[in-house]
Amino acid sequence: MIIIIGGGPAGMMAAISAASTQNEVILIEKNEHLGRKLLLTGGGRCNLTNICGSEDLIHHFSKTGSFLRDAFKAFDNNDLISFFARRGLKTRIEEDGRVFPVTDKASSVLDLLIEEVKKLKIKVLVNTSVKEVIVSQSVVKSVLREDGTIIEADKVIVAAGGLSYEATGSTGDGIRIAEKLGHTIVPLTPGIVALTLESTLPERLEGVSLNDVKLVFKAGKKKAASGKGSIIFTKNGISGPITLSSSSKVVDWLNEGKKVSLEIDIMPMLDPKETEEVLIKKISGSSVKKLKNILKEFVPMRFSELLLELSKIPQDKKANQLTSKERKDLIMLFKKVKFDVANTVSFEKAQITRGGISVKEIDPGTMESKKVKGLYFAGEMIDVDGDCGGFSLQAAFSTGYLAGLSRTRYEDLDDSIFVDRKGHRGIIFPKGGSEQWQKEQ
Ligand SMILES: Cc1cc2nc3c(=O)[nH]c(=O)nc-3n(C[C@H](O)[C@H](O)[C@H](O)COP(=O)(O)OP(=O)(O)OC[C@H]3O[C@@H](n4cnc5c(N)ncnc54)[C@H](O)[C@@H]3O)c2cc1C
Repeated sequence: MIIIIGGGPAGMMAAISAASTQNEVILIEKNEHLGRKLLLTGGGRCNLTNICGSEDLIHHFSKTGSFLRDAFKAFDNNDLISFFARRGLKTRIEEDGRVFPVTDKASSVLDLLIEEVKKLKIKVLVNTSVKEVIVSQSVVKSVLREDGTIIEADKVIVAAGGLSYEATGSTGDGIRIAEKLGHTIVPLTPGIVALTLESTLPERLEGVSLNDVKLVFKAGKKKAASGKGSIIFTKNGISGPITLSSSSKVVDWLNEGKKVSLEIDIMPMLDPKETEEVLIKKISGSSVKKLKNILKEFVPMRFSELLLELSKIPQDKKANQLTSKERKDLIMLFKKVKFDVANTVSFEKAQITRGGISVKEIDPGTMESKKVKGLYFAGEMIDVDGDCGGFSLQAAFSTGYLAGLSRTRYEDLDDSIFVDRKGHRGIIFPKGGSEQWQKEQ
């Protein structure tokens, strides 16, 4: 009997791969419905993976990313896309290789997973919270539910998620369960998260978006630049794709007690000289126009007013009244609007939890705990965190898939185990260690 704790993407995929090898599987979810967080992903559209090359996937994860090598070998982004395609859900590739369902609905992804769970006759217990995993002499025995009842199991996969968006059910239970069983927990911090700024300016700019800009974060001599993309000002800071994807580095620096500054480059494709040339051309072509109306062609009106204010140019100044000093100041600002970063928004609002169960204590080839036989982990609870762009869900699906297939490394594995790694039935011979997989056609 295999029990899976947590009905998110990692848990559902673990249940599907476990049941595809004809195991008796129970999926336990504490909410009334499976996959609540999945429905929120990608702004409700679900950026389920990224089309980058298979080897490149690992480079989109934190330092511990190489832990995922075997999970990606077993089930990578192409496998995930064909998993959905074979079951009738086509996907589309968007900017930066992000993959979305063609329906633009996260609910299509969830519905398909639920359909598969049903098809494989996986028993699902909803409104059921697991309190503990019971272990005897370092071997998994059963799970204890909140209501005090016990279900026996020879294999338990914990896929209970991280700590953010608590209302979706991710309240850190799995991490507590793992810690209680003697696993090391790498400190939990928010990831892919909006930032707050020291300045009062964002309040006035709330809702203003800047497109095709670049962010440069600095902490002492350290520097991290985002790619080109968009940001949006919030009530007390900034969010938007390039803010979220740069946030991990900023969180690390803030945690180290460093003071972090931010410079926004409004014209990252041009150097200051080229920026000046573009501005001069615009200004001389409409010299009687108010400057702020010219700037509006580059940035939204509220931001153009801010640029004038910061460069101490009167708001109603006409283009032909601009002095060369004022023009230089304005160009400086186009390349560098400066803020100090105060913090991140609350953990609750982070898209992912960084940190979690130490990868040193999990066998990367099976996802089994190195401390407890028969106990496996999958998904966001593990200390690997991906970039913004579909990588977190890919990791959840891949680790779930591998955990579902794997059998304990402590068992006598002379016999081959029958698995489905690439959508075909194949036979895999574990050889020990993380490089254990060999496929027989
Ligand atoms: C707003 C938002 C947008 C996001 N967008 C994207 C995106 O577009 N692309 C991307 O790759 N990632 C995205 N993510 C991240 C992604 O959703 C997570 O990385 C992913 O859901 C992790 O999957 P998981 O199965 O490990 O955990 P979860 O999805 O958190 O699932 C864990 C499940 O376990 C259940 N559970 C917890 N404790 C217990 C217990 N004691 N007993 C029983 N059940 C329990 C929970 O109720 C939950 O259903 C987004 C996250 C957020 C918050």
